[in-house]
Amino acid sequence: MEMGCMWMRRVRTSAVASFSLLSLHPPIPSSSSLSLNPSPPRSLPLFLPNRRSASASASASASSSPPPPPPLVSAGDGCPDLGGCEGSGIAARGPKVLLKGMRYAELEKWVQSQGYRPGQALMLWKRMYGNAIWAHSAEELHGLNKDFKKMLSERAELRALSFKEIRAAADGTKKILFSLEDGLLIETVIIPCDRGRNTVCVSSQVGCAMNCQFCFTGRMGLTRHLTAAEIVDQAVFAHRLFHDEVGSITNVVFMGMGEPLHNIENVIKAADIMVHDQGLHFSPRRVTVSTSGLVPQLKRFLHESNCSVAVSLNATTDEVRNWIMPINRKYKLSVLLQTLREELRHKNNYKVLFEYVMLAGVNDSFEDAKRLIDLVQGIPCKINLISFNPHSGSKFKPTPEEKIVEFRNILAEGGCIVFLRLSRGDDQMAACGQLGKPGAREAPLLRVPPQFEMALNAAI
Ligand code: SF4
Repeated sequence: MEMGCMWMRRVRTSAVASFSLLSLHPPIPSSSSLSLNPSPPRSLPLFLPNRRSASASASASASSSPPPPPPLVSAGDGCPDLGGCEGSGIAARGPKVLLKGMRYAELEKWVQSQGYRPGQALMLWKRMYGNAIWAHSAEELHGLNKDFKKMLSERAELRALSFKEIRAAADGTKKILFSLEDGLLIETVIIPCDRGRNTVCVSSQVGCAMNCQFCFTGRMGLTRHLTAAEIVDQAVFAHRLFHDEVGSITNVVFMGMGEPLHNIENVIKAADIMVHDQGLHFSPRRVTVSTSGLVPQLKRFLHESNCSVAVSLNATTDEVRNWIMPINRKYKLSVLLQTLREELRHKNNYKVLFEYVMLAGVNDSFEDAKRLIDLVQGIPCKINLISFNPHSGSKFKPTPEEKIVEFRNILAEGGCIVFLRLSRGDDQMAACGQLGKPGAREAPLLRVPPQFEMALNAAI
């Protein structure tokens, strides 16, 4: 899933004609083909998608070469291969432990194991994650005991990422490139909004195994999961690099490179660290983990975390979803939606966010809108309509803006809470679905169902 600041308009049934801009939301879109005007009072809105991928230009520097990805799609039914690197990643750097890979209780235990008091763990935690310090080295740990700092510099590593460069889009969205200990590259997006709501869109994997057909990241295949430390450090870097320029980073979306719930262990841990009230202290409602629909992992996440969930839906029939999101061949729409219906009964005041990337002639018909209303019945939810962000090699075209608005109006009249998300950062391939850069081996594009060939070939 991916990044950039986004503008959303919330539409209520009773206010279909006069939309009010309620909030600027930070996910990830871009839509170069739509004339997205970021000035608020416009009659027609725009959007953004849910995941990020990197773009071709995004990675001139990213050309450095991830190892060849494992196969993305099984030879059999086309379902993504979810095996392979479960639990992989780097939890330590040589003989040093990575402190950002620890929950607070783990840090406290480790500090005690080194012969120091638990109180020093708290002081360390606050300097790594708060007090406008966001320490990346022992030298920045002002006020800590000298021996304790010496021990940390010898046995621990505070930083999990190496900063490479920032690419700034014309709309203020920034894409940050980081290199990992093993030389791989990831991308993180900062989406500033003028209402003080600044979002960081973090990656959870190098590449992605899901092979969603509309996503540039999906072309990469999966190289490996990120560790919890590598995920958390993206949020820390966002504070360090941009706090003075844009103010506090208020929201986190796991919509960058990767399917977060494919790396659920590290994602749950990273989210726990991010919401700790003595550290980064993000509100759980402002930490959103997006998924393409891994049902067992989704259930687990809803049980174990209070953070928010977004589901990348993007189709109203299994026929279309099987094609554009192969994970649907394993977990059908009915199974995914029934799971949400049942699990959300046990949550108070909790809404899932459905993301719906509008693809011309594929999922944007009047019938799709009607079916979508029926599909989400009984699920406390909001729906984000996102304009498709074209990228090289893509067969899809964005739905025209006026048609998106019609689609939105149908949903609103049907009682849905709908947002139109404005794409951000597309000129730097920082928008939704544009992150990353495929290597020499790309994930396969799937056969286009005959009934959609004409729509894909049609000029808009
Ligand atoms: S391939 Fe699918 S799951 Fe993976 S990053 Fe892209 S949209 Fe998200």
